[in-house]
Amino acid sequence: MNTLHEYKGVLHVHTRYSDSAVTMPEVVRIARAVGLDYVVTADHHTLRPKYEGWEGRHEGLLLVVGVEVSSTKGHALVIGLDRTDRWASAHPNEYLPEVARRGGRAFVAHPERHDRGKIYRKPQAWPDLETDDYAGVEIWSYMHDWVEGAYPWHVLDGMLDPDSRVAGPHPLVLRRWDEVALRRHCSGIAALDAHERRYPIPHFRWPLLKVLPTEFIFRTARTHVLSSEWSGSSADDIALLTDALTAGRCFAAYDLIGDATGTRFRAERDGETAVMGDEVHAGGEWTFVATVPLEAELRLLRNSEPVAQCVGRELAHRDARPGVYRVEARLRNRPWVFTNHIYVREDGSTP
Ligand SMILES: [Zn+2]
Ligand SMILES: [Zn+2]
Repeated sequence: MNTLHEYKGVLHVHTRYSDSAVTMPEVVRIARAVGLDYVVTADHHTLRPKYEGWEGRHEGLLLVVGVEVSSTKGHALVIGLDRTDRWASAHPNEYLPEVARRGGRAFVAHPERHDRGKIYRKPQAWPDLETDDYAGVEIWSYMHDWVEGAYPWHVLDGMLDPDSRVAGPHPLVLRRWDEVALRRHCSGIAALDAHERRYPIPHFRWPLLKVLPTEFIFRTARTHVLSSEWSGSSADDIALLTDALTAGRCFAAYDLIGDATGTRFRAERDGETAVMGDEVHAGGEWTFVATVPLEAELRLLRNSEPVAQCVGRELAHRDARPGVYRVEARLRNRPWVFTNHIYVREDGSTP
């Protein structure tokens, strides 16, 4: 377990290959400038950036070209596909099994209920999912959080100070995630759904007004993965990243308000150690330990219910009950860190 390295990046980034104003060279340049280790792009319906050679290493940055399956019945962020289809109106129950057959790893995109704001609504497929052919879910979709918080009279405010409109992962999404996790493994990731908009201002040569500019949004909701050390080979490192994301060996963090690098959540028993994403046997008492790099409000949840909390940089709690355990941290009363579960199963396998 000591060999795990931490890599931070952002997922679900649109570019000019679909409906964002940002180009691939800009994605690479900005990601490197803000210190990201990886970026996963997800343009609607297309893998063209992959065919045009964008996937792979760009010096220190690993760029993965995913795709957003954008059906009217629900969207999914998919990585690992070489070929996609339009699936314009297929239900996820139909397209997710096909995505899995082609070797893709799918994450249900922006599954939240839209009861916070009034500007627009998207289909929410998650409640109707009958297939298990998905690896996980976007527990936080930054752009949607921002839009939902933005009532029409708040739009300018939201452009000038985007962070002010952000509330964090939706409590109903987190609760549903816990419910699914009780039944099956389900990884939670932070996603941006980044669509940069640029509006030219009359009589000026360059666009001055940008909405959710890439320079900003790449510093917000990130997913930190724990993985064995990346080798520098694109194919190997993409495989390691994909494994960590699908295994839930990762946590979502709002790095804009405090860099969460170094956050860990583990469970220990008689010399065994489990980390986020692991499934372990119940029976005997596990000690759950969460550490964060800044003093924060820490909460350990079991099956959605808090079982321990404290203010500090470490939380420890012993519990013998089966269930799905995860940690949430708030920093200065803002949502900050959301770990994946450690699954304590009656019939779990040991790590
Ligand atoms: Zn979408
Ligand atoms: Zn999207």
